[in-house]
Amino acid sequence: NKPARRTPPSTAVVRVRGAREHNLKNVDVDIPRDALVVFSGISGSGKSSLAFGTLYAEAQRRYLESLSPYARRLIDQVGVPDVDAIEGLPPAVALQQQRGTASVRSSVGSVTTLSSLLRMLYSRAGTYPARQPMLYAEDFSPNTPQGACPNCHGLGYVYEVTEQSMVPDPSLSIRERAIAAWPPAWHGQNQRDILVTLGYDVDVPWRDLPKKQRDWILFTEEQPVVPVYAGFTPAETRAALRRKEEPSYMGTFSGARRYVLHTFATTQSAMMKKRVARYMIGTECPVCDGRRLKREALSVTFAGMDIGTLSQLPLSAMAQALRPAAEGHFEAPAGTAARSRSAGRQATAKRVAAGGNAHAGGSDVRRTPDLSEEKRIAAQRIAHDLVERIGTLQSLGLGYLSMDRATPTLSPGELQRLRLATQIRSSLFGVVYVLDEPTAGLHPADGEALYDALAQLKAGGNTLFVVEHDLEMLRRADWLVDVGPGAGQHGGQVLYSGPPDGLRTIKASATAPYLFQDAAGPRRTPRAPSGWLGLRGVHRNNLHGVDARFPLGAFTAVTGVSGSGKSSLVSQALVELVGEHLGQEPVIEETDTDLPQPSRIERTRGRLNGAKAIKRLVNVDQKPIGRTPRSNLATYTGLFDHVRRLFAGTRSAKARRYSVGRFSFNVAAGRCETCEGEGFVHVELLFMPSVYAPCPTCHGQRYNAKTLEVQWNGRNIAQVLAMTVEEALAFFAEEPPVQRPLQLLRDIGLGYLRLGQPATELSGGEAQRIKLATELQRSQHGNSLYVLDEPTTGLHPADVDKLMTQLHGLVDAGNTVVVVEHDLRVVADADWVIDVGPGAGEEGGRIVAEGTPAQVSRARQGATARYLRRWFP
Ligand code: ADP
Ligand code: ADP
Ligand code: ZN
Ligand code: ZN
Repeated sequence: NKPARRTPPSTAVVRVRGAREHNLKNVDVDIPRDALVVFSGISGSGKSSLAFGTLYAEAQRRYLESLSPYARRLIDQVGVPDVDAIEGLPPAVALQQQRGTASVRSSVGSVTTLSSLLRMLYSRAGTYPARQPMLYAEDFSPNTPQGACPNCHGLGYVYEVTEQSMVPDPSLSIRERAIAAWPPAWHGQNQRDILVTLGYDVDVPWRDLPKKQRDWILFTEEQPVVPVYAGFTPAETRAALRRKEEPSYMGTFSGARRYVLHTFATTQSAMMKKRVARYMIGTECPVCDGRRLKREALSVTFAGMDIGTLSQLPLSAMAQALRPAAEGHFEAPAGTAARSRSAGRQATAKRVAAGGNAHAGGSDVRRTPDLSEEKRIAAQRIAHDLVERIGTLQSLGLGYLSMDRATPTLSPGELQRLRLATQIRSSLFGVVYVLDEPTAGLHPADGEALYDALAQLKAGGNTLFVVEHDLEMLRRADWLVDVGPGAGQHGGQVLYSGPPDGLRTIKASATAPYLFQDAAGPRRTPRAPSGWLGLRGVHRNNLHGVDARFPLGAFTAVTGVSGSGKSSLVSQALVELVGEHLGQEPVIEETDTDLPQPSRIERTRGRLNGAKAIKRLVNVDQKPIGRTPRSNLATYTGLFDHVRRLFAGTRSAKARRYSVGRFSFNVAAGRCETCEGEGFVHVELLFMPSVYAPCPTCHGQRYNAKTLEVQWNGRNIAQVLAMTVEEALAFFAEEPPVQRPLQLLRDIGLGYLRLGQPATELSGGEAQRIKLATELQRSQHGNSLYVLDEPTTGLHPADVDKLMTQLHGLVDAGNTVVVVEHDLRVVADADWVIDVGPGAGEEGGRIVAEGTPAQVSRARQGATARYLRRWFP
């Protein structure tokens, strides 16, 4: 296939020879520098193995090697990429999508370093009240003891446990479990029996008890110890007490609030923690009004606002507030600082957010008197820098974010673009940026800004290696490297390397047909809905009283620019309201229970109609399927149970009396003791992020030698975990219970994953597809609502087609599917489209168009119509 390899014209070339990392088949390829190079190919073909596993890994190795002998030892442990030679490789910076979650304390401001600049601005150039000494920059950080509000310790909110939260239905009696916050099962009955002994009536509706009694039961700090007569009626208990009968036992009472707070603070069980967190309501801290800082820090203003208020504004509004100072004008709106704190803050925030000018003219303006020349220069310089940096973020479509937004609430795509913007500002020269699907989460209309940002990096003398599926990005590349033809061992070859247009003639490429396909063609006829699911008056994030309707028994795509409110509408409002209707418990993520934020405990407000037809809700999200290397594809889908049973059933296992448990790497008997079955050991490094290195005892096999002696059809259990889904399909061809989950995994494009691939290595999209496959294993009864947020993330168009076949199959079986989606091929094939917008943040949050794809393509409003028109000319 010589003609498929063009030689880059310039002398600036990265020359790769004999790359064999993972599935790569001794790849030779020449890639231009100072260019936008896109790596394409179906999932598992080897794009990442080439871009990240070989090119980036080699650049990093060279960098580490230049550092120290200690680092060199580390490289030996982590391994070097399997490649004969790479020439002409500049230093590289990877901007990968974050896997797993970041700390709650990390925010948009800290990731972009805008926070530290802003603190400097307030410290050096803020307006201080008379006689208040100047503060240090750290005094403006809620994450330092010097700066934090002493009441909420810098969190901005405090927890309350209220009668309403603990007793959601006051028409129930105590016996009917009115106090929902009480512990479940026996422990709760015990509390009830104690109340009987204490003389409370547990059989009247809660609301009929006197307030004094209700308050004592819920809020007392006393812990009386009283005799309990288990199984006695209240009358029998009274009689027994009078007769001073021997009790069943002595029981200790605990107020419901005390129980909730104590359990939350001390329990080791994530489940218990989750349970009690539901009764804790986060409210804004009354001392700092949610601004997280001590009083002295909040009394310092700039542009008429304290730093906490400014940090809560969307970035675009913040830039607007700082612009006058950046241009050397130092006026502050009169009165804002002096007015009552929260009223002034709201007024300013609204005015700025609405696009108005914070330093509106006329009598409303006064000169800030105490700004010395030195302060002015400092202020202008820092404000200018801030405005510029925010400009970069805005151009990447992130202007709707606020600085104090916690990073765990951001999507991986948003986070990657935040990092990208930070890189653009750092103006490095002559480096390679390696990116992983930067279009994730972006509407085609947002894409323009991304292309500009990448062009800027390139113009700065840098090279861009991008792993991407978005066809528009492929068309815009200077150079395309198409990897394939299949996944896993069926891939690993470079099918084409050259300018995009040359891919047209490459028969083996799975990418070519999509890249050069004519969009307009015969389309599916949209299904007629069997009914409607209505949401009315929805309030959530930027949705303020929105009405929406979703067709039942149909496939709906929700579209709109990034930040317009799609996820708020679908993954939050729809999921929460339907979940509540079905009596499902609100989902609180395990990580959230460490520091749940009010915004995430806050429920959607709104009403639901037409939900009778829905019997089940399945929210297939992109959250990890586990947070340790112990959970993996095989354990999550349940197929490992079948596999372990096969091993335990072999003659050699029986002879050794090995049960099913022996073949679990979570059970002491069978696993490697050095790594306790993880296969990896954690290596802590000074000055660098710590890494996982393969276990020196089992070399990643996870089991002890005895367990590995047992074989099923010639393979041991570690070898089975090392198989890809494709390989396992062949190996377990005669075992239907193992076949079924494997087939489903392959059918949605995951045939390349290894069974033992740790949860921590999976991308959000992979985790989502594993959840979907697990869900598809269940028998279908119809009447379920499936909700998916951008299910095509990380998928080649060919894999998208497979996924859509599965999702449309669910609809054909009588279910309803709602997806948030940017891929126009998917949107064009939906039965119904809901376009949210028109803009992001407060400029969005409305439904601007709805209808069949053809109808929406003719809409006058919304960002999606004009892109859909290609399909409906
Ligand atoms: P792509 O980026 O095209 O989706 P990858 O480069 O991630 O593909 O994967 C190519 C092949 O290499 C797949 O078969 C995959 O299972 C395998 N692979 C990926 N990562 C690893 C790893 N850490 N160890 C072993 N095999 C891997
Ligand atoms: P989309 O899904 O269309 O990208 P989102 O629904 O995620 O949009 O966001 C809509 C608006 O709500 C944005 O202004 C965003 O910053 C805000 N928002 C979303 N999630 C949260 C959250 N957890 N906390 C605070 N604001 C949020
Ligand atoms: Zn506070
Ligand atoms: Zn080990």
